[in-house]
Amino acid sequence: MPANVAQKLIESHLVSGELSPGSEIGLRIDHTLTQDATGTLVMLELEAMGIDRVRTELSVQYVDHNLLQTDHRNADDHRFLRSACRRYGIWYSKPGNGVSHPVHMQRFGRPGRTMVGSDSHTPAAGSLGMLAIGVGGLEVAMAMAGEPLYLTMPRIWGVELVGELPPWVSAKDVILEMLRRHDVKGGVGRIIEYHGPGLAGLSAMDRHVIANMGAELGATTTVFPADEEVRRFLESEDRGEDCEPLLADEGATYDVNERIDLSTLEPLIATPSSPGNVVPVREAAGTEVGQVVVGSSANPGLRDFAVVAEIVRGHQSHDRVSFDVNPTSRQTLENLGAMDLLMPLIHAGARLHQSGCMGCIGMGQAPASDTPSLRTFPRNFPGRSGTTDDLVYLCSPETAAAAALTGEITDPRDLEERLGIGPPEYLPPMRPIVNTAMLVPPLAPDAAAKEELVKGPNIVSLPEFDPLPDDLEAPALLKVGDNISTDEIMPAGQRVLPYRSNIPAMADFVFWPVDDTYVDRARESSDTTGHLIVGGDNYGQGSSREHAAIAPRYLGLRAVVAKSFARIHWQNLANFGILALEFDDPADYDRITQGDTLVLRGLRSALESSDHRVHMDNATTEQRSTLRHRLSPRQIELIRAGGLIPVFRARFAGEPAALEP
Ligand code: SF4
Repeated sequence: MPANVAQKLIESHLVSGELSPGSEIGLRIDHTLTQDATGTLVMLELEAMGIDRVRTELSVQYVDHNLLQTDHRNADDHRFLRSACRRYGIWYSKPGNGVSHPVHMQRFGRPGRTMVGSDSHTPAAGSLGMLAIGVGGLEVAMAMAGEPLYLTMPRIWGVELVGELPPWVSAKDVILEMLRRHDVKGGVGRIIEYHGPGLAGLSAMDRHVIANMGAELGATTTVFPADEEVRRFLESEDRGEDCEPLLADEGATYDVNERIDLSTLEPLIATPSSPGNVVPVREAAGTEVGQVVVGSSANPGLRDFAVVAEIVRGHQSHDRVSFDVNPTSRQTLENLGAMDLLMPLIHAGARLHQSGCMGCIGMGQAPASDTPSLRTFPRNFPGRSGTTDDLVYLCSPETAAAAALTGEITDPRDLEERLGIGPPEYLPPMRPIVNTAMLVPPLAPDAAAKEELVKGPNIVSLPEFDPLPDDLEAPALLKVGDNISTDEIMPAGQRVLPYRSNIPAMADFVFWPVDDTYVDRARESSDTTGHLIVGGDNYGQGSSREHAAIAPRYLGLRAVVAKSFARIHWQNLANFGILALEFDDPADYDRITQGDTLVLRGLRSALESSDHRVHMDNATTEQRSTLRHRLSPRQIELIRAGGLIPVFRARFAGEPAALEP
């Protein structure tokens, strides 16, 4: 049978299961990627499981999120991560080296490899023909320990690209077009595979833009073939020897099919406050803008900064606009300097920041309240910017540069008429600068074994969680609506992220943007029965942060009952022993009021029943709901034991895990 790229990647790494959509498969993992906001927890998990050294082909720890050092906490975390890299045999990318995804692509990405990352934009590596999946930190820790990744076999969604992008339209507009068509849940349960003649006009970094924001569609991952364009990219990074072609077979088919004629696309923009609220830029044109930010892993390439520099060359940013530029890597910054592209940016009033995520994760750059901010970022969930009443738009570098100059949302195609600026031309440098200086290789095993973890006062070992009780009678402490993101469950930003290695302290901020009374009420319930949360559709979308599971668990959360769950968060809940249950009849959601007492009896046998159904009684209204779970037998074992850590700590110690409270 002719195979597509995704099938080839899965088949070559399959350790259990079969390639039929919906069944559980186990995959051997070659690379892992961790970033600092989630990586400290991963290292604490390796410690809690008693791991001696990672068993992957390559594991890299990046420090790109928490770069602001307003007190000792972030600096302590950086030092802790460096010590953990030395202890466990992991590459260390120093603070300021750059955002994990583009740096991984430039330095380590290899066609045909698998990767898991504790960051939801890990699929960006699909641009090189890798199968790269964003998962919770605990699953990354398991992959580091040599365990397979288990997931439900997705459907493969072939998107044929034909034609060529018109002037002023770029890769960001391709993925915004996908979001315009399918919204933030359109890719759930799917791997997106791009193919067709239109690929020839998309560089490897353009493909990174598209693969990165496949996460916003809810897709398991995105893959591209490793073709001549990938070879060109790896050769430009002095890594031509790492290029192994990976192409779909002639006649390969897909479970779902779609077509985009690139020549018909126009500049698009995602309006506040969802990446799925996409409209043509011309429909939002004229809206006054207070901030424009260029950067992030959603537009990380040298090209993305170069076109902005060319557009603003010789002009001034509008006096209303804060024009911020976050070079995604030190290598990008060096090349911009060498290509004489920094001066046009500086002259135009750009505020140049260090290489890293910066405002994309709320590390500074919070916009003024109720003021439109245009960003080349991937996400605009409410409050993610650090401003509660923010108005964040997502767009291409061309659209961002146009707004920086005019002070209002502007279709970049109008720049010629308004300011005499023609479409920017980008010619990649013949020999770009390759910078590997801030990547520290792992120590040899003998030296690593002598290393100690260096923990500052804000780094606290993980709390222990007890097994799931057989009967649960607890209040529905919180009821939320559809599309609740992990940014709303466990906010990030400058105020919260410094506590990422300190679950008891970080738990003070759980659901803070949604209901600031939740934490106090949860702490009360955790002393007695624990509690449940009732959610709508797509509960837990967005970032992969497992803090959004572990911190509520610390506060006594035992089960979430929702209409549906986002993939990564659903897995994170299971990993930390929280039961994720879906309404059989979504109308039952409306029959529960916050504060009702919900009763689940005989859970252990119910979970193992063949129809995957569990009954829940509402003791307040005396109504019964039927719920479904999607747990595999392996995950049921996790839930019963209180999560992955107790199971694997016991396994590595050669003991059985306790399954009873
Ligand atoms: S999406 Fe933003 S926060 Fe996440 S890795 Fe990319 S730049 Fe960093």
